[in-house]
Amino acid sequence: MCGACCENIYVRHGNKIIKTTEEFKKIKTNNNYSFYQHITPIDQDDFGLIFTCDKFDKEKKLCKDHKSRPSICRNYPSEEIFKMGAQLKDDCGYYFEPIEKFSEVFKKISKKPIKKFNKQ
Ligand code: SF4
Repeated sequence: MCGACCENIYVRHGNKIIKTTEEFKKIKTNNNYSFYQHITPIDQDDFGLIFTCDKFDKEKKLCKDHKSRPSICRNYPSEEIFKMGAQLKDDCGYYFEPIEKFSEVFKKISKKPIKKFNKQ
């Protein structure tokens, strides 16, 4: 509810994060998705372009179109984008927690017998 995510948006188009302003211009021109008309690139990092949204009311820290907000906002934070390398801001109210720790998964896998195949 802080709105930080509305001012620091990575956007995935298809299965890729939009990385350059040129790429975004092309996507915006060839796409009717209305959300693209409301976002503006404000920065860029190793992961991709960072956008802000003009539907965000900076004073009230609220979305001006909350009822009609697009799926990217309804589904925030999407696991997919974070599997691709995006980070949540340190002061974000959301966080990700692994269902199972890597060390536990590794321990389970290590206990499984290794199948050996004989060459004929
Ligand atoms: S549409 Fe609303 S919820 Fe989505 S990024 Fe813009 S201000 Fe935020």
